[in-house]
Amino acid sequence: MEEITCPNCRQRVEPIPVLYGYPIEEAWDAEKRGELVIGGCVPDLGPDAVCPNCRQPIAMAGGDYVEPTSAGAGD
Ligand SMILES: [Zn+2]
Repeated sequence: MEEITCPNCRQRVEPIPVLYGYPIEEAWDAEKRGELVIGGCVPDLGPDAVCPNCRQPIAMAGGDYVEPTSAGAGD
């Protein structure tokens, strides 16, 4: 995934995708490596991705993440 600015911790992070449904074995391996998060079998609830830094959910509305606007923050 592309790097985004986390709306929670304001760090530049690469969101970890959340996998729903019954995970295949490779998915468990990927989760152990921190490449994704297994969200379980309830795709209606829960985020599309989580922040690898603060572990907070990141909403990726339809896959199009919108960067939070930070007024006057000189980065
Ligand atoms: Zn974060």
